Order: sequence, then C-alpha cells, then structure tokens
Amino acid sequence: MQMTEEAGVAVAEAPACAITLLPSGKSFTSHAGESVLDAALRQGILLPHQCKTGTCGACRARVVDGEAACLPGAQPAALSAEEAGQGMHLLCCTQATSDLRIECAEIPHIPGIAVRKLPVRVTALERLAPDVMRVLLQPPPGQRLHYAAGQYVDVLLPGNRRRSYSLATPAREGQEQLELHIRHLPGGLFTGQVFGRLKARDVLRIEGPFGTFGMHDGASTAPAILLASGTGFAPIKALVEQLLATGSQRPVHLYWGGRKREDLYQHALCLEWAQALAGRLAYVPVLSDAPASDGWAGRTGWVHEAVLQDHADLSQHEVYACGAPAMVEAARRDFAARAGMRAAAFFADAFVAQPG
Ligand SMILES: Cc1cc2nc3c(=O)[nH]c(=O)nc-3n(C[C@H](O)[C@H](O)[C@H](O)COP(=O)(O)OP(=O)(O)OC[C@H]3O[C@@H](n4cnc5c(N)ncnc54)[C@H](O)[C@@H]3O)c2cc1C
Repeated sequence: MQMTEEAGVAVAEAPACAITLLPSGKSFTSHAGESVLDAALRQGILLPHQCKTGTCGACRARVVDGEAACLPGAQPAALSAEEAGQGMHLLCCTQATSDLRIECAEIPHIPGIAVRKLPVRVTALERLAPDVMRVLLQPPPGQRLHYAAGQYVDVLLPGNRRRSYSLATPAREGQEQLELHIRHLPGGLFTGQVFGRLKARDVLRIEGPFGTFGMHDGASTAPAILLASGTGFAPIKALVEQLLATGSQRPVHLYWGGRKREDLYQHALCLEWAQALAGRLAYVPVLSDAPASDGWAGRTGWVHEAVLQDHADLSQHEVYACGAPAMVEAARRDFAARAGMRAAAFFADAFVAQPG
C-alpha cells in the first residue's frame, strides 16, 4: 500500500485495481473513487458509453469476477434490478473494489483519439436562433483535439460540475476550432452563462472527446435514418459532413424536428445538402407546434412519427437519433414495435440533464 501526505499526516492510498476485459484480455488499472469507464478512457481504451450519468445504459457490462460497487452519489437508473442480480453494471457508475474481470464490448481504437483536458478560448458566439448559440472554441497552439464525428466534449465548471456538448463538425485537417450548438435553458447553470456573460476571448476548460455515438457505422452501407430534435442536430451535422467528406454513397434520410420554424436553425444548410446530394440525401423538416405566423407548409407532428409514416419497414435500416430524451425513447420503442427495427441498429445520443 502506498502512503501519501495530506496536511502533514501520512494517509494510506488504496492500491489500484487491475481490470481485465473479456474476451479481448486487454487490461488497465482503476483508482478508488474513479468509475471503471473513466479509468478505461483515461488509459486510451474506448468502451461503449454515451451520457456518463447512468441514464442511457450504453456502458452496460457484466462483472464476471471480483467486487464492484456503485460510486457514491451515482444513479444507475438504466439498470434494472434483474440485470443487477445477474452481475450487470453501468460502468460510468461503478468503481472497482478489487481486481475485476468484465465481459464487455470494445470500440476499435482510433489512432490519435485520447481523452484530454484542455483550456480553450471562445473565438465566436453567434445566435443561430433566439435560443441557440453557435460557440467556436480554439485549443492552444499545437493542441488540436482529435475526435470522431458524433462525439462530444464536457465543459468543466466550478464545483466538479460538467455539461456535455456535441461537436457539430467532423475533425478536419487544418481545422482546429471546435463548434458547439448550445440551447438556452432559462435558469440553466451553464447555458445561462452562455446567453449572459460569456464573451469572445473568454477561456473555458473542456474534457473529451467522449461518447461512442456514430462510431458503430464502419463500412456499413445500410440506409440510414438520421433523426434530430432541436440542438440534437449538432452531432447529426457532423455525421452528414463526414459522409460528404468521404464521398459515401450511403442513402440517408435526415429528419429534423422542432416546435416552430426558428428551431430548425440551419434549415438552409440542410436544403443545400439535399440539393447537392439529390437521390442520396432526403431532408424532411417537421414542426410540432408552428404558429400560423410561421407560414409553415411542410410536415407537422412528432418527428419520429413522420419517419414511421414514410417507412413502414425499418428492418434493413440503421437509425441515429439525437436530442430530447423523450424523442429518442419514443423512436427506439415505436420503430422496433411498429416497423421491425433491430435493437442493434439503433444508435442514440440523448441530451439528458446532468447532475449539479
Ligand atoms: C451526451 C450529451 C450531449 C449533449 N449535447 C448537447 C448539445 O450539443 N447542445 C445542447 O444544447 N445541449 C446538449 N446537451 C445537454 C447539456 O449537456 C446540458 O444538460 C444543458 O445545456 C443544460 O445545462 P445547464 O447547466 O444550462 O442547465 P442545468 O442547470 O443543468 O439545468 C437547468 C434545468 O433544466 C433542466 N435540464 C437540463 N438539461 C436539460 C435538457 N437537455 N433538456 C431539458 N431540460 C433540461 C434541468 O433538469 C433543470 O431543471 C447534451 C447532453 C448530453 C448528456
């Protein structure tokens, strides 16, 4: 056991636990008080995950050997009592209390992608809609952040709080700035700042990249339904720009839902994509609550219902859904029940609220 010194008093430091992943046999170490997921990411091992709050369940895995416990204050809401009884854990909420062997899927390592903390300078704040801000962030010289389209970063706030924001462009050679689309939640801790006192040249601290949304695709040529509500458009934009950059021939149906016209804050860009990729990318904007003054002549109702109206059979499709948790869950449930979507073909990034 190692000793450290705190306020002049020698304190025993718990030894690190060794975690072995099955079936790969890959291993890493985890410290007391650290989630197994954080430990893996810190050491460059990418395990499936998304919200990091216990809500989405993407980091579900089975502990086959050893002792693990829930981190103090963590809420593994996505884990049923039955799953817990079978040794399942949510790795974002679980700490190792002994060496562990865990049965877990792994995401193939992408060279260059590693979770880092960085100071970033705000270089531009642009209102895309009355309640949506485009925020551009510049990392320090030579410290470009490498990430995959669909990933997100956490903005680090005082008091160990953090807020997640999707990266709205794919990482590109020669482009270092990070683009975020942030919706104002009145009374919100961080978005209140973004729409209040945050200004160009301010410095924020971020950590990332996180999330494995959008990284399951590989060389799939299955037709894709891209489904966004509100600022859920940000990671979807990164995926579309990635498809454009790689010259992908994959058929894509992009559905973007909002309440009123201004919620589709980059409608013109989507129309441009649809025109440039005629026959490959279809764009379907859908409004649920447009006032008559919007003069909206397009589709109306819930955006996921519009997908079902157009696609009675989703058994051959992959679905990428981002934004409001209620929309993501309705799509997951109804696409499977009413259109035969395979559970494994549904990839989601639900913008769940974060603690603190
Ligand atoms: C993986 C991930 C990616 C995300 N990406 C984006 C993004 O690209 N753009 C973006 O605008 N947001 C995104 N979010 C949501 C974002 O992280 C924050 O939750 C949100 O901006 C609110 O932060 P806040 O500090 O202003 O509000 P808080 O102080 O956290 O909350 C204020 C009030 O709003 C409620 N609330 C918090 N978050 C939400 C929400 N998402 N929807 C509805 N009510 C909420 C809280 O329960 C509380 O009542 C993402 C979330 C996750 C988990």
